[in-house]
This record gives sequence, structure tokens and C-alpha cells, in this order.
Amino acid sequence: MAQTRASNRKVLVLAGDGIGPEIMRQALRVIEFFDRRHLTSFEITEGPVGGAALDESGVPLSDETLAQAAASDAVLFGAVGGAKWDTLPFELRPERGILRLRKELDLFANLRPAVVFDALADASCLKREIVAGLDLMIVRELTGGIYFGEPRGVETLPDGSRRGINTEVYTEAEIERVVRAAFDLARKRSRRVCEVDKANVMESGGLWREVAQRVRDADYPDVELSFMYADNCAMQLVRNPKQFDVIVTSNLFGDLLSDCAAMLTGSLGMLPSASLGAPDAGGRRKALYEPVHGSAPDIAGKDIANPLACILSFSMMLRYSFDMAEEADLVEDAVRRALASGVRTSDIVQPNTARVSTRVMGDTVLRELEKAA
Ligand code: NAD
Repeated sequence: MAQTRASNRKVLVLAGDGIGPEIMRQALRVIEFFDRRHLTSFEITEGPVGGAALDESGVPLSDETLAQAAASDAVLFGAVGGAKWDTLPFELRPERGILRLRKELDLFANLRPAVVFDALADASCLKREIVAGLDLMIVRELTGGIYFGEPRGVETLPDGSRRGINTEVYTEAEIERVVRAAFDLARKRSRRVCEVDKANVMESGGLWREVAQRVRDADYPDVELSFMYADNCAMQLVRNPKQFDVIVTSNLFGDLLSDCAAMLTGSLGMLPSASLGAPDAGGRRKALYEPVHGSAPDIAGKDIANPLACILSFSMMLRYSFDMAEEADLVEDAVRRALASGVRTSDIVQPNTARVSTRVMGDTVLRELEKAA
């Protein structure tokens, strides 16, 4: 059953399954910190999603929860899924909950930051000097391109052999709205956008370049725009990732490049993300914030999951939904100092650091927040 606490920025919290509720508990403590210190306040509504919702109402995302999401300024999502529901038909699987939310809210821009905290620079598979201080953002188009384009399918040819077909399709409007989202983001960062495509072999890539250039010249002259081929970008991400600020690209290339960038940072438990929709008349976008990782059933219920991706998802919400850069910095600095103090959940533990529980990692972030505020 949904619970509500009073205040003035509407956030729907959907903790979900597995480690979802454990990590969300720590993120909620950070949210409560802002309320308690009167720094800002949030109207928090909690609802069921995924397997938890299936058990309660027979569907992974009820119409009621969807309506609450649509009426909220932002959604903070944990994770869904687990063995208990793995045998259900596809339409009823917990993962449909998140897919339906993205589709119904038309969240077309997926933001995946790759940030390397200094204390974790040695956990990356690349050398410290390549990744230390890294802070880049990949903006992936999420609702178009080859994963959705028609025609698609597998057809049988007259000679009896089969042919598989998928089609990369983008309209100017689809490109324009996602490059605008990237330019808007760049204005909150270092004002540099790199548009990534395969314009050398794909006509749709040429259109991406044209549209990005037109939008930049018309409305974002203060943002620097460059272009790169996707194969080169994959190489540059592991050769010299610090050259990038914001990368904007299609669904397919974004899928690959964001996983590649994720590996620069070391652990899945550290990676937040956001999915944004179109801005309304007041400039506010529908938005959903979530850790990149799933429900981790192998460690659920053990109080050992890393809550930092969820806490950092909340700080993305502060920055991108509520324009609260100072408060977002406060949360990110608290995470940075917590790591520097030497505490680690088991996924990021290193020699000479202390292995701690989910709860103690939350305690440490809270202590650092209290010190800084
Ligand atoms: P996963 O991300 O849940 O776990 C992969 C590995 O990383 C596991 O070993 C896990 O223990 C570890 N891990 C993940 N998050 C961690 C954290 N915060 N702290 C420490 N370790 C962490 O991916 P999976 O195992 O492929 O999928 C498990 C379930 O999650 C499946 O049901 C899958 O469908 C679902 N899933 C959901 C989402 C989502 O809710 N958005 C995303 C991916 C997978």
C-alpha cells in the first residue's frame, strides 16, 4: 500500500525487489536529512513495483502507480526482478514494470554518468592516470532507432534460406529532442557536447550531424559541438576518456558505449542513471532516476549491497529535476569523503579498506553530510 509524507517537491519512490528496498532505505535517509535540516523538503510517496507489485495486485506496475508517477516531479526507482517470478509469461515479469514506466512517461533520453571517485581510481581496469578525476556523461536516445525500427523480423527467402532484418530509423524530431537534452545538460557541466554516429557509412548518422549542428547554431551557441565516429569513440573511451564532457548518441551506440564507459569506473554498485522526457511549459521534464544495476538476488537480504548508486541517483535528481546543484554537490562530496575514509561495501573492497554493511555505508554518508551542512 502506498504511504505518503508531506512536503513540496513530489517524488515517487519505487523500491522494488531484491536489494531494491535495502539500498532505497539508505537513499531515503539522505532525503530525510534534507528535510530534517530544513535545507529543502520533498513530498515522498512510496509505491509497489515489479515482483512486490505482482504479489500485491497481480501486475508489475498498476495503473494507480503509473498515474502517481505521471503526477510526480520525479521517480526514484530501486530495482526489480527475482527467481520467484522468472517463470511468469513475459508480459507479467517484474521487469515489465520499469519498461512500462519508461514507455508511458516517454522517457527518451537516458543519462549515464561515468565518474571516477579518487578513492576508487585503483579499482578501475585502466591505469589510475587515465581515469582519475574522470567525469563524463553519456546521453543515449532510448525510445527510437534500430531496436524499434520497421521493417524488422526474420523472413524466408525464395531459396528457403532466412534473412534477419532490423532498421535504424530516426526522424528529425526524435534527434532534435535528444540533442536538446544533451545541450541543456552540457550547460550544467563544461558546455561541451560530442555527437557520436557512423555518418561515414549510415545516412541516418548524417542526419544526426545536420540536426545537432542546426540546433546548436540556433539555440546553444555557448556550447561547443564536436563529432566523432562510434568506433573511434569506443577506442577514445579507453585511451583518453577525460577528453569528453557530454556524449550524445543513438540507442544502439549508446547501449554499447555506456557499458564501455561504466567499466572505467570499477563497480556496478557505484553507477546511477536518469531517464528524461520532454520539458513541459515550465521547462520541467518527466524523469526517472535509478541505479544501473539490477535486484542482485544473490546478495539480497544480507545487508551487503552497495547503496551508493541509489544515493547518487538521488543526487542526479537534485541536479537535473530540481536545479539544486549545491545540494547535489553536497551529496556527491559526502559520498567522496565516505569512500576516502576507507569504508567499502564488499563489491568495492580493496586492500587496507574496511568492509562494511549497506547500513554502515549509509551511516558514513550521513555523517559526512552532517559535517558538511
Ligand atoms: P544485477 O545487476 O542484479 O547483478 C549483477 C552482479 O552485480 C551480481 O553479482 C550482484 O550481486 C552485483 N551487484 C549488483 N548491484 C550491486 C550492488 N548495489 N552492490 C553490490 N553488488 C551488486 O544483474 P543480474 O544478476 O543480471 O540480474 C538480477 C535481476 O535483476 C534479474 O531479475 C534481472 O532481470 C533484474 N534486473 C533489473 C534491472 C532493473 O530493475 N532496472 C536491471 C538489470 C537487471
